[in-house]
Amino acid sequence: MVRPALRSRSRRRVTRRAPSGEPRVFYERDYGYAARCALCGGPLGGVPRDAREVKRGPKSSKRPERPFGGVLCPRCLALAYKTAVRGL
Ligand SMILES: [Zn+2]
Repeated sequence: MVRPALRSRSRRRVTRRAPSGEPRVFYERDYGYAARCALCGGPLGGVPRDAREVKRGPKSSKRPERPFGGVLCPRCLALAYKTAVRGL
C-alpha cells in the first residue's frame, strides 16, 4: 500500500510512463478551479484558474478592477446596476 499521505483523494491520480518505461501511478495535487459568478454561476473572466496563483502577485492581477470584480460577471453586474437605479 502507498504512503498514508497519498491515500487521500485530495491528490489526483495520473498514470504516466516512468523513466524505466513501465506505466506507473503518479499523485499530483489538483490546483485547477474556475471562479464562478455569485448570481448566475457562469465562469468569471480575469480570475486565475490556478489556486496557487491567487497567493502571489498584486491583487490587481487576480480579479477585474471594478466593483464586484471577481464576484459578479459583467452581465449580472449590469443587471444589478439597472435594478438598483430603477428601484425595482
Ligand atoms: Zn452572472
